[in-house]
Amino acid sequence: GLADRLQGTLQKIRGKGKVSEADVKEMMREVRLALLEADVNFKVVKEFIKRVKERAVGQEVLQSLTPGQQVIKVVHEELKDLMGGEQSKIAVANRPPTVIMMVGLQGAGKTTTTGKLANHLRKKHNRKPLLVAADIYRPAAIQQLETIGKQLSMPVFSLGDQVSPVEIAKQAIQKAKEEHNDYVIIDTAGRLHVDEALMNELEEVKEAVKPDEIFLVVDAMTGQDAVNVAESFNNALGVSGVVLTKLDGDTRGGAALSIRSVTDTPIKFAGMGEKLDALEAFHPERMASRILGMGDVLTLIEKAQSTVDEEKAKELEKKMRTMSFTFDDFLDQLDQVRSMGPLDELLDMIPGMNKAKGMKNINVDDKQIGKVEAIIRSMTKDEKLHPEVINASRRKRIALGSGTTVQDVNRLLKQFEEMKKMMKQMTNMQKGKKKGKGFN
Ligand code: GDP
Ligand code: MG
Repeated sequence: GLADRLQGTLQKIRGKGKVSEADVKEMMREVRLALLEADVNFKVVKEFIKRVKERAVGQEVLQSLTPGQQVIKVVHEELKDLMGGEQSKIAVANRPPTVIMMVGLQGAGKTTTTGKLANHLRKKHNRKPLLVAADIYRPAAIQQLETIGKQLSMPVFSLGDQVSPVEIAKQAIQKAKEEHNDYVIIDTAGRLHVDEALMNELEEVKEAVKPDEIFLVVDAMTGQDAVNVAESFNNALGVSGVVLTKLDGDTRGGAALSIRSVTDTPIKFAGMGEKLDALEAFHPERMASRILGMGDVLTLIEKAQSTVDEEKAKELEKKMRTMSFTFDDFLDQLDQVRSMGPLDELLDMIPGMNKAKGMKNINVDDKQIGKVEAIIRSMTKDEKLHPEVINASRRKRIALGSGTTVQDVNRLLKQFEEMKKMMKQMTNMQKGKKKGKGFN
């Protein structure tokens, strides 16, 4: 997934406090490749990258403590937006029956989806659909729908394959009125490719029955082709919704992304299998996660959060023992904390810690860290190594240089001293522990 592609880049920016424009550029290069690989239309990719860049390089990320996560979040949100909100509503005609026309290429899943939709309408909305066999070309197409009708115990209207689809559709609506079927779902013919004869016939049916919905059924496995198909059908007929089938398969989701933005038509349902109950409302969020490979991303984020790298930890321990811990080390520590993520977010992820956060005794707001960082950066090399030389006039200078107050500087110096004291205690305790172990 996209996450694999991003991994290397994420690794690189993991230790940084901020994401630079160059970082975002590099990440976006990966995102771009991944989307193209997922068979997303290149125009869509271009627009998408532009939008993410704008958001990612701006304030949002610069203030963030976890650049990598933040960029992923932006990408995820934009992917979601690209596919529109969740819309599985189906029109209801003022005067029944409501007429739905199913269109699409051969093998896309029209006939199957006709059955699924009828099943959905009955189960979820208590409707009484009539299925209409208007594919007179494909051998056994009528029989296929009749079999589906039997499985669902639902009526199927057919006039054989010698009557025109327009005539079949018209008579079916008449029949539905007589039988009090409140929905009519017309299963039309498809071809292997879009052609004029097909479009003309579908237009005739449309003219004759004035459908309330025209659902375009698209095979998600066909990637970019699906987009061209969607565009042709939409231009010729005006499609009111898309049903994306075979999402249970190993598709990368490129079709979903492109179709929505190229045709500006909502994806309403997703086909999740061959069975007649395998129809779901389309969830843009899930699709975005799938494209992103969110499972991977989550482990990635976890890894980033246990980020304290072993060598640094060892080095630090040594410094603590020898009391040579300086402000530079302190800065390093802050950077590590930053790379782990916003602290409250971090706490949320640790099981059992949400409650601790509620106690509000952990004072770790982002601004505070920024202040501390600024103060340390305003110190001279000597001051960082030997804070005891920082007298009143130096404190004033540091405060001025860091845009803080002398009180802020005082507080930090005091905290630093306390921290060193605490470290000494901790190392002494650890020594004691080691000794204890030796006696066992
Ligand atoms: P049509 O030519 O557009 O009417 O397509 P069909 O309804 O005959 O479906 C073509 C094939 O795709 C059949 O074997 C269906 O079982 C299969 N199919 C349709 N929808 C799905 C789906 O959502 N998932 C899977 N796995 N197969 C599907
Ligand atoms: Mg069919």
